[in-house]
Amino acid sequence: MTSPGPDPVPSPTPEPVPVHDPVPAPDPEFAIRCEQLVRIYKTDTLEVQALQGLDLRVAEGELTALVGASGSGKSTLLAILAGLDVPTAGSARVAGRELAGLSHRERLRYRRATVGFVWQNPAANLLPHLTAAQNVALPMRLNRTSRAARRDRADQLLDALGVAHCRDRVPAQLSGGEQQRTAIATALANTPSVLLADEPTGELDSETAETVFEGLRTANREHGVTVLIVTHDAGISAQVRRTVAIRDGRTSTETLRRAPSHGGTAADPVEYAVVDRFGRLQLPREFTESYGIRDRVRLTREPGHVGVWPDLHEHHDEGSETEHA
Ligand code: ADP
Repeated sequence: MTSPGPDPVPSPTPEPVPVHDPVPAPDPEFAIRCEQLVRIYKTDTLEVQALQGLDLRVAEGELTALVGASGSGKSTLLAILAGLDVPTAGSARVAGRELAGLSHRERLRYRRATVGFVWQNPAANLLPHLTAAQNVALPMRLNRTSRAARRDRADQLLDALGVAHCRDRVPAQLSGGEQQRTAIATALANTPSVLLADEPTGELDSETAETVFEGLRTANREHGVTVLIVTHDAGISAQVRRTVAIRDGRTSTETLRRAPSHGGTAADPVEYAVVDRFGRLQLPREFTESYGIRDRVRLTREPGHVGVWPDLHEHHDEGSETEHA
């Protein structure tokens, strides 16, 4: 078995990767940088390691999808990045701020000015007794923005998100999609560096979901905010350049898509296994299952790539070792 790459013929030099490097170098500026992030939940009888040394880097201005099975740790990660929860160990830096050591006061300021969030349940994002414009203006009020500036910015944001017609209605008078787009406007009110969205289209039909995703794209493109979207929606992950998958509390793989060239079609997505700074990677389950990989593999140096071979002795104690490609 040879890994990685679709081309089975070893090439003398590594093939150039047809997409941008997800980790710009040198000395990159990351909007989000998690290193060896651990979150352990303890109850009287139970200890759950929700994050088990997670590494994640998101460059400034990226729009990234985060996917993973239920229970893999996505919400735990988002809660930490949102400043609502603290890691048990490791580092989480957002817009240059280390979240592990923030005081209560700094944490409040961080939530108000550095990060914005949109949750799955539209009703959880907005105050029910305030109009759309008042909801968008509220975070600015907490940030002591003048009344006139609040009103202007609320109008601009509602307009940018395509919900200017909703400005004087309360959430109960808005559709689910309008509520979510108003929620994005509210999250952008104090010009955050990072916008976090936890399944923002989870309760919407696919057509409405598309308008909400377009709203997140507008936030990213026109307001320059870095966006991280937790999603099960294949329609969203198919449209973002980078999708990061979490498995068992660690980032495991990521898929990069090249944007369609002008007038052309998008190239096939390329899937990568994430390698942490200790050189560890998770082989995707499809690989371990289809090649019968269990406890260990044999690694070989090949021209331009590394060979990963199943340990055949494990299965055939007396058989000779034959390498399956
Ligand atoms: P996801 O968002 O990917 O579904 P979560 O981050 O919600 O995953 O959960 C990760 C793991 O942590 C799961 O095993 C979950 O049961 C556990 N967990 C989450 N929150 C708590 C909590 N407050 N107390 C105990 N265990 C929790």
